Amino acid sequence: MVAEVTETQTEEKKKADQYDEPIILVENVNKWYGDFHVLRDVSLSVAPREVVVIIGPSGSGKSTFIRCINRLEEHQEGLIMVDGIELSHDVRNVAEIRRETGMVFQQFNLFPHMTVADNVTLAPMKVRHWPKDRAERRAMELLTRVGIPEQANKYPGQLSGGQQQRVAIARALAMEPKIMLFDEPTSALDPEMIKEVLDVMKELAISGMTMIVVTHEMGFAREVADRIIFMDHGRIVEQGPPEHFFDPAIEHHPRTQEFLDQIL
Ligand code: ADP
Ligand code: MG
Repeated sequence: MVAEVTETQTEEKKKADQYDEPIILVENVNKWYGDFHVLRDVSLSVAPREVVVIIGPSGSGKSTFIRCINRLEEHQEGLIMVDGIELSHDVRNVAEIRRETGMVFQQFNLFPHMTVADNVTLAPMKVRHWPKDRAERRAMELLTRVGIPEQANKYPGQLSGGQQQRVAIARALAMEPKIMLFDEPTSALDPEMIKEVLDVMKELAISGMTMIVVTHEMGFAREVADRIIFMDHGRIVEQGPPEHFFDPAIEHHPRTQEFLDQIL
């Protein structure tokens, strides 16, 4: 089920990107928690089908930033546009953007009292008003895509962490989002389960999904990212393609170098 990234696919994807308008546009965003200035003049433009990996030390604002993109957090200054819709106080805009962006969290956030299948069908039935049989058919397709169709009638607590996270991905995909946001999706997993989740994410990237992924998995970043962004103290300090980040000959910002030295 999980395809390999081939050179040709990657090249085609890159070519397609060059001609598209940004699907996510962030301009000079500032955010405070009380007095604490958590995001500082953050600007980012993401092309359709692009995979952006965000790295950076704990507390640098990575989660806050991606949570602003689907309005789980509110920014105070600057502009955020998602697929041409500006994120403003207008609740209709927020609802529209939530429908277009799927999110996967470190802690899975599945509904424990509902079966795997019900977790996946809930939003399409409630929000998109799909009839039950259509939502269930789609759920089975998605559970097959993430490699666990046989788990459909179990409860989240009966699954391994890796399986639960794959359910969470299927649940996010059920809303047919244009963008997927991942916040450290493998950080809560035992090491032997990390690969099965990263493989699903890799397949999603190959299929052309626009993705922003906060992760410490440098192998994934190197192989799958079109661009890596390093954040520190609420700022984007450095960004570039993986070749840039992993080339020992390139001189990095001192904070980037310090971070890379710690994790590589
Ligand atoms: P990261 O994901 O890079 O670890 P976060 O975005 O979670 O960083 O947090 C950035 C900073 O903002 C941290 O110092 C954190 O303690 C603080 N912070 C996060 N959420 C809140 C909140 N709801 N209220 C106050 N401070 C917060
Ligand atoms: Mg975080």
